[in-house]
Amino acid sequence: MKALYKKSKKAYNMSLEKGEDLLPGDDEVIVKVEAAGICGTDLKMYQGKYYKYNLPIILGHEFSGYITSIGKDVKKLSKGAKVTAQPEVSNCGQCNMCIIGKTNICRQKNRLGFEQNGAFADYVKLNQHQIHVLPDEVDILSGALIEPLAVVIHAFRKIKISPSDVIHVIGSGAIGLIAMLVGKANGAFVSISGLSRDQEKLSLASKLGADLVVEADNEGSSDVIMQHTQGNGADIVLECTGTAAGVNAGLELCKASGQYVQVGTWSESLNVDFMKIAYKEIQVMGSYSHTKIDWLDSIKLIQNKKIDVSPLIQDIYSLTDWRKAFQKAETGEKVKVVLKP
Ligand SMILES: [Zn+2]
Ligand SMILES: [Zn+2]
Repeated sequence: MKALYKKSKKAYNMSLEKGEDLLPGDDEVIVKVEAAGICGTDLKMYQGKYYKYNLPIILGHEFSGYITSIGKDVKKLSKGAKVTAQPEVSNCGQCNMCIIGKTNICRQKNRLGFEQNGAFADYVKLNQHQIHVLPDEVDILSGALIEPLAVVIHAFRKIKISPSDVIHVIGSGAIGLIAMLVGKANGAFVSISGLSRDQEKLSLASKLGADLVVEADNEGSSDVIMQHTQGNGADIVLECTGTAAGVNAGLELCKASGQYVQVGTWSESLNVDFMKIAYKEIQVMGSYSHTKIDWLDSIKLIQNKKIDVSPLIQDIYSLTDWRKAFQKAETGEKVKVVLKP
């Protein structure tokens, strides 16, 4: 099979090679990958800006496909099933976080595309517990976006939300746009900010229902949010960039006693005005990755047509054109670039 390997942590050190043929262990399945999204973390790994992964490795952790073979102890899955899968192959199962069900923040996780081979390949090997069968209403491309949707659903679990709330989403990438969609599905007024160079993504945000779209790097952009909220600020801020500028804007635009969720991540520490949290009694919450319930709810949201993630897939490349796909993803013009092995 063809597989896209990263062989060193240096920038751009990736190549399409012949990978070993995969056979399922007793409780494993092999999935023919149909669509695999390039996420911000994949891009940082490609650019040599993110280091927490094993080598050599096949990247890719958000994907969908069809089961082609199953191990002898796999009873509830069958060949041909349309599926997606959680990246966590395993967690320790014993730490305090695993015990209370917060497996997403276990410190000994094995994940596809980080510690184990991922989905930028013709086939991927998975443990049966990772698999989610996709209902008929969830098409194969949308199936590849369940993972980022689950990230957002996990973040929404942190907040109390009512239809009269104003939510401000910072960031116009896939996570930001999905956060906007989930905010709208909750009945809230949702504003979203991106940079002026993100025109294409910001106009997509408008088209998909954002109530207010602002260019964060334009002077007076915060005034628009403040004016709309009678000078109070947003009830809820979802920060989806993980940058100092994003965090500072988020704390500025969050109303006193409002809720702020840090969804975006960065591998370096940021210089932010932490005192705003005290002076405004902002309720700050962190959100990281997802757990099984977030996946089940994400699938339900697409199945029941409450959320449509399909417009976010803006470019599809074959695996052999991976270089073009990563170059396109690097421009930041498109919300989601997908590889189709
Ligand atoms: Zn990701
Ligand atoms: Zn654990």
